[in-house]
Order: sequence, then C-alpha cells, then structure tokens
Amino acid sequence: MPAQPLAEPGKELPLVFTAPKRRKPAAHWIDLGIDERIAAVQRLGHQKFRAQQLSHQWFERLAHTPDEWTDLPANARQQFVDELFPTLVTEINQQRADRGATIKTLWKLHDGSLVESVLMRYGAGEHSAARTTMCVSSQAGCGMACPFCATGQGGLQRNLSTGEIVMQVLDGARKLSRGELPGGPGRVSNIVFMGMGEPLANYKAVMGAVRTLVEPAPNGLGMSARGITVSTVGLVPRIEQLAGEGIPVTLALSLHAPDDELRDELVPINTRWKVDEVVDAAWHYAEKTRRRVSIEYIMIKDINDQPERADLLARVLKKRGDWGWFHVNLIPLNPTPGSIWTASDPAVEAEFVRRLQARGVPVTIRDTRGSDIDGACGQLAATAV
Ligand code: SAH
Repeated sequence: MPAQPLAEPGKELPLVFTAPKRRKPAAHWIDLGIDERIAAVQRLGHQKFRAQQLSHQWFERLAHTPDEWTDLPANARQQFVDELFPTLVTEINQQRADRGATIKTLWKLHDGSLVESVLMRYGAGEHSAARTTMCVSSQAGCGMACPFCATGQGGLQRNLSTGEIVMQVLDGARKLSRGELPGGPGRVSNIVFMGMGEPLANYKAVMGAVRTLVEPAPNGLGMSARGITVSTVGLVPRIEQLAGEGIPVTLALSLHAPDDELRDELVPINTRWKVDEVVDAAWHYAEKTRRRVSIEYIMIKDINDQPERADLLARVLKKRGDWGWFHVNLIPLNPTPGSIWTASDPAVEAEFVRRLQARGVPVTIRDTRGSDIDGACGQLAATAV
C-alpha cells in the first residue's frame, strides 16, 4: 500500500486501540513465575530442584532441545518439552545483510501470524563500544496506522505473549553464542522494542518480557534495564505506568513532528494525546527514572524537515525546566514500497542537526542497518515467502 496520509488533517482517523480477541499460545515456561515453574514440575511428579535446572538450560545455556539437557533424567526430558515448552515460534525465513552482521528472521506463530525480528552486531567504532542489538516485535501487525510505516499499513492482528517476545531474544542470543555471526561468539547487549507493533499497547506481555530479560540467571537473562529500549508512539497513561515500575528501561518517544497539525497526520494517535502531553510524559519519565529519553524523529523530505521545524522542536523540548533529559535521534526515512515520501536531502538534514545543536539539543543520526533486506526501522511487514 502506498504510504500516504490516511486522512486529511483534522478528519476522523480510523484508529484501533485494542487488540482483537487474543488467540493465546499454549502456556510456556517463560510465561510462568518462579513459583509457578516449581509447581509445574511438581505437578508432573518431579522434585522442585528440576525447575532450577530447566531454567538454567533454557535461559543460561540457551539449550532448547531436550537432548542438550544432560543433567535431567533422559526419560523425563520429552515429558517436560511436551507439557511445559510448546513451540511458540518457528523460523520460516532468514535474510542476512552487512556481511552477515545483520540478520532478519521471519517467524510463524502457532496460529499462523507472522512477525519479524532483527539482530544487529556492531563493532567498536570511534564513538561507540562493540554491541549487539536485538530488535523485537511486540505485536503481529500494529494498530497505530502511522502512514510512513510498513507495519502500520496492515492493521493489528494480535498481541504477542511474553513467551513469544522473549523467544525472539533467546533465538538471537543463541545464534550469537553459537558463533553464527561474524566476530565470534558473543552476547546480546541491547534490546529495542522497535520491531512490529506498539509495545505499550501490549503492556502486560511486554512488561513480562522485560522482567524476564532483567531477571538474574538462572530464572531470566540477567540483562541490564538500561540496555532495553521501549519505543512508543506516546500512549501517555502507559508511559506514566512504566515510570512507576521501578525498572528503568530506556524510553524512546516517536515524536516525528513538533506541532500538532503535522503530528496528527504522521502519528495519528496524536489526535488523542497531543505533542505537549507526550513530551510532558516523556519528561516525567526521565525525571523519575533518571534515564535520558530518546526523541525519535524521522526525516521525511519536505514534510517535517524544514528549518523552522527544527527550531520549534528545540523550543518544545526546552519548555520543561531541566530539558537535558532529552536526546534527539534523527532517522532517515526508509521508504516503504510505493511510498510517495523519501528521506531528506543530506544538506537539509545537516541544517536540521545544526539548528538543534545551536540550541544545545543533543542529537544523533540513526544508521539504517538492514535497509537492503527491508530490515530497517519501519520496514517490517511480514509476508510468507
Ligand atoms: N510502535 C513503536 C515501535 C515500533 S517502530 C513506535 O512507533 O515507536 C520503531 C521506530 O521506527 C519508530 O520511531 C517509528 O516511527 C520508526 N519508523 C517507522 N516506519 C519508519 C520508516 N519507514 N522509516 C524510518 N523509521 C520508521
């Protein structure tokens, strides 16, 4: 579908806020709390320490096939798999780019829904340490209908479960630990909820995934909260809820326009929560968690890249006293198939950066890893191959 505005500014937009009835996958080990895991192994007639062993295999050793579980009784392994580890995601396609350092995976879920995840390994650069980032999907499709985003064009199919989200990370972690990417065996250092879906519209499952990711081994992946980024269109009540969780994940706010008139069109949920409200919520989040919030801003040629918009963006961000909590991340538009929009010219982008910097706003430009395999931001639109 061409990426065109879905409606004239000011007109009613077809927003979908809630998922249709969820077709739940079978309960999986990942979806259970620690006590529930113990109860589950006991229900199957085993001693409670087996729960610890299974978690050690699953989350720490990333051993997901029963023949790898050599510390568990051979005759019980299949029973555990059948009862507690149903297959949640099946890899149906894999594409590589950047000489193998970027891998996009297409997953089929138990009900046939399709989602994608992208694993990106970065070497140490002049300004950055080596890291590996896993970009995960939180929903099959998305209901936020942003006209420039490939996922947004198809609407929402359903929310993912915690298990389905964590499995994407575990798969990336496993590929890395097995040395399947150039650079030798490694670990996932960062997670970004920037794949398909609006994470804060699937709050409970996403928080379940975040808790599993930060839970120390053997019951979780033991990652640091600051290495996890939740990216949102700006669901204000959910941002406030997230601030109260006591898990200081990094928040990214997809702002894309500093004025309501344009943002109503680019991020249709803006008709519900305005620029000022979302920026306020982001500011409170930063203040409460002491984490800098990333303000995402796609650069679309002649749409939102004018010099006056750079000035207005700086003003909007500076309104709140201690505004050093914000950091602007410019993303060159990755045009979706048939898009009438293109990325800003480099000179225009440079002027936009210059104006923000002149007003003291920290700004970086996002790289477009994986764009040649439609694996870059906003290009994920899963279709079976
Ligand atoms: N729903 C969430 C997370 C998924 S999108 C959100 O909107 O933040 C992750 C980021 O990619 C968002 O900032 C989104 O606006 C951006 N994005 C979407 N489509 C894009 C495109 N075609 N080119 C560049 N960035 C895009």
